[in-house]
Amino acid sequence: MRKKRIKRIAVLTSGGDAPGMNAAIRAVTRTAIHENMKVFGVCQGYAGLIAGDFLPLGPRDVGGIIHLGGTILRSARSREFKTEAGRNKALAALQAKKIDAAIIIGGNGSQTGAYALSQLGLPVVGIASTIDNDLAGSEITIGVDTAMNIALEAIDRLKTTAASHKRAFLVEVMGRDCGYLALVAGISGGAEVIAVPEAPCRPEDIARELKEAYERGKSHGICVIAEGAEFKAADIASYFREHHERIGFELRLTALGHVQRGGAPGVFDRFLATRLGAAAVEALVRGEENVLTGLMKGAIVTTPLSEVVRAKKTLDTDLLRMAHILSR
Ligand code: ATP
Repeated sequence: MRKKRIKRIAVLTSGGDAPGMNAAIRAVTRTAIHENMKVFGVCQGYAGLIAGDFLPLGPRDVGGIIHLGGTILRSARSREFKTEAGRNKALAALQAKKIDAAIIIGGNGSQTGAYALSQLGLPVVGIASTIDNDLAGSEITIGVDTAMNIALEAIDRLKTTAASHKRAFLVEVMGRDCGYLALVAGISGGAEVIAVPEAPCRPEDIARELKEAYERGKSHGICVIAEGAEFKAADIASYFREHHERIGFELRLTALGHVQRGGAPGVFDRFLATRLGAAAVEALVRGEENVLTGLMKGAIVTTPLSEVVRAKKTLDTDLLRMAHILSR
């Protein structure tokens, strides 16, 4: 536990933006001010940290943002921060501003960067935020719920048009190498097929599943494909085009892409981001450092960043079996 009181903190958002990041910035700022700290927002993630792009934040600067998607601090991916020289520059910028600690809002890569920064001696607290839900230390991260609801709305809409025309659709959802978004949105949307990176699913398996679904009297076929799945949605669509004669039908592809990241955060993400933002500052006040604030079993907890960056989050693939049974 650290003895020195934290008086000046920096807060930044890094990696892919996630709905709820603004609610986290607001909670960090106002909780820190309540604790008599001075708060500096860093523009454009680690790139802005290296450039010394700081912005003093007061309570009014974070007013009217809780309902906004994206991040008012803007985000970036910085290759330079992955180098020791880049991180040393960032540390020098923080020292020049007399910053005592940094709060990093972001996903896997960002928290790996946060851990690397902490190894230079700066107290750091991470806030679990990524729509991919691939970060250990938080069962669910900021932005996931909103992104899943956007994916679900698209699936519901496609289902009505699929049923009207007796068509099959492929819906590609984000999530990088993690199938969580596809799995949960697929199950909640009643998809016939769900393909995730964590389990094998070949185009011929999809063709068989859909054929059997039609034979069972279904009027639609919805296949939710995670962007990180072994066979990409575009490859599956071209397989169906090539083998159209034999399979008997085609698949239309809808790639949701960045649409899933935009828009207003829902209540779950605003509430989670607010609790995690406040908890990150409270951790620093308690003298905790180099931890991630996340949600585990309904409670806000801290996990050492050293553990977070080493652990790999697993997907409950039993849910795929359940989805298969329920799509009968
Ligand atoms: P999301 O998955 O939601 O896009 P993320 O935080 O995982 O979010 P990344 O692009 O993986 O996004 O990482 C964001 C930034 O974190 C990188 O651009 C880089 O500056 C920093 N970073 C990533 N990996 C490392 C690393 N190994 N060491 C130091 N910094 C890193």
